Parts: sequence; structure tokens; C-alpha cells
Amino acid sequence: MSEQNKIPQATARRLPLYYRFLNNLHAQEKFRVSSKELSEAVKVDSATIRRDFSYFGALGKKGYGYNVEYLLGFFRKTLDQDDVTNIVLIGVGNLGTAFLQYNFTKNNNTKIEMAFDADKSKVGQEIGGVPVYHIDELEDKISDITVAILTVPVSEAQNITDRLVQTGASGILNFTPARITVPEGVRVHHIDLAVELQSLVYFIKHYPLDEVDGSQ
Ligand code: ATP
Repeated sequence: MSEQNKIPQATARRLPLYYRFLNNLHAQEKFRVSSKELSEAVKVDSATIRRDFSYFGALGKKGYGYNVEYLLGFFRKTLDQDDVTNIVLIGVGNLGTAFLQYNFTKNNNTKIEMAFDADKSKVGQEIGGVPVYHIDELEDKISDITVAILTVPVSEAQNITDRLVQTGASGILNFTPARITVPEGVRVHHIDLAVELQSLVYFIKHYPLDEVDGSQ
């Protein structure tokens, strides 16, 4: 999307955060919001918010703040909220099952369409309303899938990634500890929950917040 290309990546990463909060405001029939209010809610400093919003052509008015409706309209367009993005999940273990049961559509239009597993006892089930197919059916079932959530064992991660890339996946949300390799043009976001937890504990121990002027 050309419009989105102009937005710095760091700003783009904050979009879903803003979007979720503004959606809540909208549901509560609030029509405007100040950058201070936003800042407290999403934990991003207000100077950053003002800079981010200036990329969207939203220049808050002094004493008025931002127009919620306008911002939501922009975010919907930019995040493609009006088109449901097709998502598949590979590996219906403990973590995969939790994701299938988690209702992503509460906050936006992303929805897991189908899931795949190698374990025959899981195939044919429906979890959280999502059908589970055998991994052998991957290439037959997915056509215009854009994003795949990877929750397979680490030893399977690269092999499954290669198959996903072959079938045209453009994004992979990797929850395995494996560092997977993909060709240029395929985007991988890596979320290693164990590492995140370990790093949080490390930071709490070594960099207590009151010693670093409250920065995150
Ligand atoms: P569980 O207790 O259900 O095994 P887990 O998260 O501890 O969950 P893992 O060994 O991490 O289990 O495997 C996650 C899931 O990935 C399992 O459901 C497993 O059957 C599935 N899986 C393993 N290999 C593949 C594969 N090649 N393709 C698809 N799914 C696979």
C-alpha cells in the first residue's frame, strides 16, 4: 500500500494500539480525545503521538484534541480493517489451541480461518469455531492466505515455513523459538514468549524503573 509506505515502521507498529483504543472510545460515543488522554491509555508519550498522527494528516487542535471519527476512518483504511485478512494457524498444541479459542475479532477484523496439525487425533475437530485439517492438506486448502501463525515444535518450524512460502504466504507470526529463514518479500515477526518473559525479569532486576526516569 503506497500510502502506508510513507509511514515510518515504528509508527506503523503503534497503529493497532491506537486503533484499539479509539475503537473503544467510539463505542462509548466519545467524539474527541486529547493527546494526553491517548498517551495515558496507550503508554506512548504525547510528543510521539503528535508526531505519529501528523503522518496521518491529523493535526490535533489546541483545546479540542483529535477527532475520533476521522482517526478511526484513517486507521480502518490503513490497517485494511474493512477487508478481513485470511489467517491460518499451524500446530494445534497448547499455544495454538489457546489462539484458536481467543477471539481476535473482538478488536479488529483478523480472523483465523483454518488450522493444520500433523496429529490425526486433532484433525477433523473444530476449535473455537476453526476447523483443523491435516498438514498434508496445507497446499490444497490455502490459496490466498496472507498470514500464518506458527505454533509447531521448533524442529518443524523451517520445513513448515518453506511450505508456506511456496504457497504464497506473505507474513508469518513465528511463536517458535526457531530463527526461520525466508526469501525477501516475506515478512516474519518473531514472538518468543520465553525470551520475552526472561528479558522482562532481567530488566526488572537490573534496571528498576525509578532509576531510569520512567522510560520503558
Ligand atoms: P501438545 O501438548 O498438544 O502436544 P505442545 O504445544 O506442548 O502441545 P508441541 O510439541 O509444541 O506441543 O507441538 C505443537 C503442535 O504442533 C502439536 O499439536 C503437534 O501435533 C503439532 N505438530 C508437530 N509437527 C507438526 C507438523 N509437521 N505439522 C503440523 N503440526 C505439527
